[in-house]
Amino acid sequence: MTAQLINGNELSKSIRAALTQRAATLKTKGLTPGLAVIMVGENPASQVYVRNKVKACEEVGFFSSLDTYPQTISENELLAHIRLLNGDPKIHGILVQLPLPNHINSTRVIESIDPLKDVDGFHISSAGALLKGMPGFWPCTPYGCMKMLDSIDYDLKGKHAVVLGRSDIVGKPMALMLLEQKATVTICHSSTLNLKEITLQADVIVCAVGKRNLLTKDMVKPGAVVIDVGMNRDDQGRLCGDVDFPGVSEVAGFITPVPGGVGPMTITMLLQNTLDSAEKYLCR
Ligand code: NAP
Repeated sequence: MTAQLINGNELSKSIRAALTQRAATLKTKGLTPGLAVIMVGENPASQVYVRNKVKACEEVGFFSSLDTYPQTISENELLAHIRLLNGDPKIHGILVQLPLPNHINSTRVIESIDPLKDVDGFHISSAGALLKGMPGFWPCTPYGCMKMLDSIDYDLKGKHAVVLGRSDIVGKPMALMLLEQKATVTICHSSTLNLKEITLQADVIVCAVGKRNLLTKDMVKPGAVVIDVGMNRDDQGRLCGDVDFPGVSEVAGFITPVPGGVGPMTITMLLQNTLDSAEKYLCR
């Protein structure tokens, strides 16, 4: 079997086209969706991510601001800035690019964001809403994975979904979203003993670990759907995922590539959350 590709670039393009339309409609009502991005320090990877997010906002007609602060900014200064953004009517989403320097408490910073503007979905209110199956902002990466499953009309009910990784921003929310669709969910992590035995039972595998070639062909049931969240570098320095793509493509039913898979979908869902927030703002 040769797996069908779930193309994150193509799917993003169609979702972003719809978002552009919705943003244009909002503008006729006098409101431009606005995203504020905050970046502390000069982490090169973070600089690329924030630039991509700001560029994506421009492309769909959103307003965006990028505030960059030196590594030495104090936590109080950062919190004061977030308070200003919380009260700014032009801003409907606030994103603090992680990681933050060690002297700043990331949890305190994230919790200081108005939950109504928490478009990254990392605030405890957003996490609680997801846990309870209530409306709220979903973290963008697992939300993007769910959209990819939607795009192939995959019915998760009764399926066995295996999530590799249990981080607060990917693995755990991913598992909750799959559970909400009535999949039977297994979460694996660094202490899981019999990984292959578990993945071989999976109808859907979401790999969110950060280890190149973690998932190989012999670990995948024929026809399974494989979603690769991982972002790693190969020996030539090229971006790659957690999945041995050529090998797993021979057995899986569907597979997402890296690059061009979950990465663009993550930014797309950030745009979606920001637009949803702006539309709700208009109704308040
Ligand atoms: P993380 O916080 O480092 O979490 C990694 C998880 O993998 C942990 O739960 C860890 O288990 C688990 N793990 C480690 N070794 C394992 C193994 N051998 N088998 C099974 N599980 C294992 O990372 P993250 O933030 O969730 O991100 C995961 C990957 O996704 C990274 O490559 C990251 O760059 C990428 N990512 C991509 C996007 C995107 O937009 N494409 C967005 C976010 C993240 P323990 O908890 O037991 O340590």
